Amino acid sequence: MPFPIMRRILRIPNRSVLAILFLFSLSSSFLYFIYVAPGIVNTYLFMMQARGIIIRENMRTIGAQVYEQVVRSAYARRNSSINDTDYGLDFNHSESFLQTTTFLPEDFTYLPNQSCPERLPSMKGQMEVNMSEIQMSDVRQMFASDRIQMGGHWKPSDCIPRWKVAILIPFRNRHEHLPVLFKHLIPMLQRQRLQFAFYIIEQAGNQPFNRAMLFNVGFLEAMKDLDWDCLIFHDVDHIPENDRNYYGCEHMPRHFAAKLDKYMYLLPYNEFFGGVSGLTVEQFRKINGFPNAFWGWGGEDDDLWNRVQYAGYNVTRPEGDLGKYKSIPHHHRGEVQFLGRYALLRRSKERQTMDGLSNLNYSPNITYETFYKNITVHLMPELALVNDY
Ligand code: UDP
Ligand code: BGC
Ligand code: MN
Repeated sequence: MPFPIMRRILRIPNRSVLAILFLFSLSSSFLYFIYVAPGIVNTYLFMMQARGIIIRENMRTIGAQVYEQVVRSAYARRNSSINDTDYGLDFNHSESFLQTTTFLPEDFTYLPNQSCPERLPSMKGQMEVNMSEIQMSDVRQMFASDRIQMGGHWKPSDCIPRWKVAILIPFRNRHEHLPVLFKHLIPMLQRQRLQFAFYIIEQAGNQPFNRAMLFNVGFLEAMKDLDWDCLIFHDVDHIPENDRNYYGCEHMPRHFAAKLDKYMYLLPYNEFFGGVSGLTVEQFRKINGFPNAFWGWGGEDDDLWNRVQYAGYNVTRPEGDLGKYKSIPHHHRGEVQFLGRYALLRRSKERQTMDGLSNLNYSPNITYETFYKNITVHLMPELALVNDY
């Protein structure tokens, strides 16, 4: 039946039709954003939330300060020996004050037979970050005299590196981000006197992106090259802002990307473990690596957090502003949000031993580039089957 006739039969006035169409188009574009561009929605919601948190935090700080001042001055009035002005309001609560300045002096002499220190004079703090697009050939030029070996392998020659660090980067179709990342990371790691190499683990095929499974592949492949002792799981679009954010490992798993510009430099939630994290080889094996079952955007980092807790670890983070990062803006080109993540996360504990390094099969294609080793893998769910449980 033609629509105008149906409308007359159902007595729907013209304006209501328009309103229904309008609402429908609003809700369909809303659905489009939820399903097709989950990152935008999540980021937007978080920004709104973060703004609220900042305002609340500021009010709380000011409130606490005023309260303290009132109590102190009441006390001072009773006890004339205490001078009121000793307790001036201190609104300067910048966390940069927490950063202890025990870095070594400029004239520190390195000894080739001794371990490189952790707090080197070359680590100056805040770095200059420039996110403009740049060609890989320009980056090659920048480091031409640095004796970086094929595959991006480098180690200091004036002391023994404290950590051998494999930097693993999950990758698909983000070529413009790579040179920007290398341009900032290479000099930072050199100043930190770490031994390092980069592994780009690239997903082939049309399955949704699987960041976690790529990290597992990267780990198993990297360990064939060298007995790395520290693994850094690094998003390609995260650029550290502070070279005192030391990329060595610790006795506990570490979350490096604690303050992201896209989240207004606030931790979105206490259990957030995304962006850049690091574990020793021993810690990573103990938790059975990442889960393989997270296809599409979201949740795999939360599962890693759960695994780390179940193994009895506590995550550490860089103090103050050291954990600041800028993220290169990007679109989620055709990436879908993984809606099954909540169901999987509820069973993190029981899945931990069944799904991870232990059940993974793959056949990689390997090539060497100037700054990284490329490991391309065609991922499919059949490569990591989990027995019924
Ligand atoms: N990634 C990629 N291609 C994709 C999706 C993800 O290379 O299509 C990698 C990349 O390293 C990226 C990381 O996975 O930084 C996390 O994904 P994304 O940047 O989409 O997450 P978000 O920025 O929304 O946290
Ligand atoms: C997702 C995580 C993501 C975080 C911040 C969470 O909802 O599950 O994977 O890192 O949001 O964007
Ligand atoms: Mn990103």
